[in-house]
Amino acid sequence: MPEGVENRPSAIEGAGLFATRDFRTGERIAPYSGPASSAPVASPDGKVFSLEIRPGLWIDGSGQDNAARHANHSCDPNAELVWDHKEGAGWLTARREILPGQEITFDYGFSLAESLAHPCRCGSPACAGRIIAAPLRAALRRHLRPPGTRRD
Ligand SMILES: [Zn+2]
Repeated sequence: MPEGVENRPSAIEGAGLFATRDFRTGERIAPYSGPASSAPVASPDGKVFSLEIRPGLWIDGSGQDNAARHANHSCDPNAELVWDHKEGAGWLTARREILPGQEITFDYGFSLAESLAHPCRCGSPACAGRIIAAPLRAALRRHLRPPGTRRD
């Protein structure tokens, strides 16, 4: 486990990743590590650890040595997954100041199709109700809107 974080039960889902110290905006929190592949890898228990880090590059973060694998998705995340081309590694990086005891969350970046199988319980006022990449949330709202209603 990298210094400054711990895994413990989360109100969002299962085990979460929590800060045990302060992180500044832009500071690296923990690597998101695992084998790279050109397609997502399904995990047997249905939990999702395979993330598209950049177009066509997926990291299977399910390994026990990946401390960041328990980090939950949030629709208002305090961290983001940043790919370092030189190192060939992804890092959870603080998007804003994170205080000790706060859960570390990031945007899983799911597609519209993936989102339909993954409800979100992040609890943020901005929650889209599904785990879906931020740029796709408007499309999701249109997709889920009952026929004959208008919210625009
Ligand atoms: Zn949410």
